[in-house]
Amino acid sequence: MVAKTEPINVYALINGDRIKTENMSPRENPTHPDEIVGYAPLNTREDTIKAIDAADQAFKTWSNTPLEERINRMERAIAKLREANDEITELLSREHGKPLYDANGEMWVSLSWMEFACQKAKDVLKEEVKEHEAGKTYIRHEPIGVVSAITPWNYPISLSTIKIAPALIAGNTMVVKPSPFAPLAVSKVIDIIASEFPPGVLNLVHGEAGVGEELTSNPKVAKIAFTGGTNTAKHIMKAAADTIKHMTLELGGNDAAIVLSDFDLNDERAMRRLVISNFLTAGQICMIAKRIYVDKSIYDQFVQKYIEAANKWIRVGDPFNPEVTVGPVNNQRQVAFVQSLVDDAKGKGAEVIKLGRILDPDVFEKGYFLQPTVVLGADYKDRIVVEEQFGPTVPILPFDNDEHAIELANDSIYGLTSSVWGVEDHAIKVANRIQAGTTMINTAAVQGLDVQFPFGGVKQSGVGREYGAEGLLTYTDTHVINVPKNGDLPYIPE
Ligand code: NAD
Repeated sequence: MVAKTEPINVYALINGDRIKTENMSPRENPTHPDEIVGYAPLNTREDTIKAIDAADQAFKTWSNTPLEERINRMERAIAKLREANDEITELLSREHGKPLYDANGEMWVSLSWMEFACQKAKDVLKEEVKEHEAGKTYIRHEPIGVVSAITPWNYPISLSTIKIAPALIAGNTMVVKPSPFAPLAVSKVIDIIASEFPPGVLNLVHGEAGVGEELTSNPKVAKIAFTGGTNTAKHIMKAAADTIKHMTLELGGNDAAIVLSDFDLNDERAMRRLVISNFLTAGQICMIAKRIYVDKSIYDQFVQKYIEAANKWIRVGDPFNPEVTVGPVNNQRQVAFVQSLVDDAKGKGAEVIKLGRILDPDVFEKGYFLQPTVVLGADYKDRIVVEEQFGPTVPILPFDNDEHAIELANDSIYGLTSSVWGVEDHAIKVANRIQAGTTMINTAAVQGLDVQFPFGGVKQSGVGREYGAEGLLTYTDTHVINVPKNGDLPYIPE
C-alpha cells in the first residue's frame, strides 16, 4: 500500500492557458474514500465557448500545417508521455481504483495506438492521384474542423488518446471533456500532449451537463467523438441534430461469451483468460464478457472449473498491493447499481457465489468494493443478463445447442464484442453469425484487442469505428478533385 499524498490540482486548457476555476471539484480515492486525490476545474458554458472559439481559430493554420509536421509533433508528445509513465499510472490507479498493472496496461495500449496512428497516417492520409481513362482524379483526406471529444471514467487515458492522436494528425483541432469520475491523470496526459502543439489546437475543459451540451450543440463544432453510455448518446444525437455534426459513438455493450461443447475444460490458461475477461478492471470495461452461455452437455463441469479458476486469479484489495488483481469499483453510484442487479437476481431465486480472496479486509470494508460474484440459475430475461452490469459480477447460463446460443447472444439491443470458446473451426462458424463489431475466439475483452484493426459496435453499441486505418479516416472528409479529359457529357444536347 502506498501512503496518502497531498491533493493535486489539474487545470483546464484554453488556447494554451492553464485555467483554474473558483470552484474546483474534488476527486476521492475509491480505495480510501476519505482521501482526496486532487481537484479538477468546474468549467462553465462560457469557458467551453472560449475553448471552442480557440479551437476554431487554431484550425485555420493547423489544418494547413504539413502532415509530416503534425506527425512529428505527435511523436514528440509520445516520447514525453513515456518519460512521465510512472507518475501518470500511479495517479490513475489512485483516482480510478484500477490496480497498478492495469493502469500500466492502459498506458501501454494508449501509446501503442498513438505510435500506430503516427506510422499509419503517412499511408492512409496521403493524397491519392489516379490517372484513368476519363482523366485524372485527386482524392484528398481533409480535416473536418473542431472536434468535441467526450470520454467516460473507465479508461480515461486510452479513450481520450484514441481520439486525440488521429484527430490532430489529420489536421483537426479539439476540445476534450473527460469524466468527473477520473479527471486527473488524463488531464496530465492532455497537458503533456498539448505542450507539443500550437496554442488552441488541443483544449481541455471539465464539467458536467452544461459543458457537455455546449460541446455537442455549438455550431462551430464539426464532429463529436463520444465514448460513454447509450442513454447519454441519445441526448448527444439530439443536441447535434440541428447542425448535422459528424459523429463517432462508442457505447455500451452486453457482450456474450459462448462456450461450445468442444471447449477443453482442462485448458487452464483459456479458463483463466475467460475469468480475466469478466473481472479485469473490476468488470468496468465496455468490452468485458458480461454473460456466459455454456453448452448444457458441459455446463456442470464448466461451472466447477470456472469457479476454481476464478478463485485462483481473483485477489481483491488495494490497487497498490502487487498481489491484487481486482480493485474497488470506481464510484458509489456504480457500486449501488451493480449490487441492485445482483440483489434482483437473488430475489428471483438465482444462486450468487462469491469469488476470490479479499486481501485487505479493512480497506475492503471502507472502500467502494464489491466482492466479485458469479450468478447461477438466473432467467434469460433477468436484469443481470439483459442489462450492462459494468461491475464485478457475471451470470452463467446453459444453452441447448449452437442455434440456441446464437439466438441468445443476438437477443440484445447491444452488439459491441463477443467471444466463442471451443475448437477453432466450430467456433468460427458460430462467430460468423453473431451480431457484434468484434468476435474473439478463445479469448475475450482487451486480451483480444489489436489497435491495428477497427473497433466499434453494431446496433445500439455505437456508430463508426476507432483504431485501425478507419480510426484515422474517421477524422477526415474526402475531397475529390476531378480533372476530366473531356468535361462534356454525351447525353446533354449541344
Ligand atoms: P456516461 O455516458 O455517463 O458519461 C460519459 C461522458 O459523457 C462523461 O464525460 C459525462 O460527463 C458526459 N456527459 C454526460 N451527460 C452528457 C450530456 N448530456 N451531453 C454531453 N456529455 C455528457 O458514461 P460513463 O458512466 O462515464 O461510462 C460508462 C459507459 O461507457 C458504459 O456504458 C460503457 O459501456 C461505455 N463505454 C463504451 C466504450 C466503447 O468503446 N464502446 C468504452 C468505454 C466505456
